[in-house]
Amino acid sequence: MANTGIVIDPRYQEHETGVGHPERPERIGVLLSALEESMEGLSAIPPREASGEEIALVHDGAYVADVEATAHKQRFAFDPDTPTSPRSYDTARLAAGGFLALLDAIVAGEVDNGFAFVRPPGHHAERHRAMGFCLFNNAAIGAEYLRRRYGIERVLIVDWDLHHGNGTQHMFEDDPGVLYVSTHQYPYYPGTGALDESGCGSGEGYTVNVPLPAGCADAEYRDAFRRVIEPIAHLYEPQFVLISAGFDAHARDPLGGMNLSASAFGAMARSLLAVAAAHASGRCAAILEGGYDLQAICASSSQVLAELSGKAPALESPPGASRIDAVVERFVRHQKRYWKI
Ligand SMILES: [Zn+2]
Repeated sequence: MANTGIVIDPRYQEHETGVGHPERPERIGVLLSALEESMEGLSAIPPREASGEEIALVHDGAYVADVEATAHKQRFAFDPDTPTSPRSYDTARLAAGGFLALLDAIVAGEVDNGFAFVRPPGHHAERHRAMGFCLFNNAAIGAEYLRRRYGIERVLIVDWDLHHGNGTQHMFEDDPGVLYVSTHQYPYYPGTGALDESGCGSGEGYTVNVPLPAGCADAEYRDAFRRVIEPIAHLYEPQFVLISAGFDAHARDPLGGMNLSASAFGAMARSLLAVAAAHASGRCAAILEGGYDLQAICASSSQVLAELSGKAPALESPPGASRIDAVVERFVRHQKRYWKI
């Protein structure tokens, strides 16, 4: 059994996106209700607001000032998908800071691993701009914080959100100190994440894209993890594992075209926890990205929490044969240029 830290707070509902927007306050509301019923074995970690300096670890100061300027304004839209409300700036600082509070608790040994249930999400946010429902790139801020504050040299970020995390990729694409791995529906929003986007300069090989066709289910993700992601993750020997955990690849999701069951998210978490156990003293932190079906968010996060806390049953039934062997074979061939897999 592990001691698993949880970050969640009613204030994550204060970023308002308007009627009909899928990235809505209820995403946190439904998780608050679910966790109220069972926090057994989980430790609540109070969030804090990230400082301007911490956000500027990965964002331009001028951009941070642009987001700050939306505070108290009734409404501003960075793009048609990415509106703000009077409390959005503060909520975004609390989202990034909530993740940092979780990372601090893991490094201090107060908890073994954890999950930060925050919004707004982060992985589309670029150094200099908001996009795709994201204001500040929480996962990227966390990775850079681990390196600067704690001297951690190799951080693995696995982004299993349905969408490609363009912002996170771009922030670290020339940097071997962060290995960014993404599974995503492709081609799809935001358009990035092709197989041959593998990083640049001294970061070449340290961006691993796993662009999957629409319609993939548990067996396809299982094979992509077993044949591409797990071997590369082990070879990298990360000192800390971060998960950009969106739940929009769930079959119920209204934006996504994938067919994952809730237990597939548990299986991916299990795989990454094994990487963390082998190289990072078990240090693993997940942060909520997308996921727009409330029932799917609850069921999937519950599976991930069961894995993090070591309460999941040891055996699971294998989900059958993958239908994308040739696609995965192409991923393996491409990654052999950089990794001995
Ligand atoms: Zn997404």
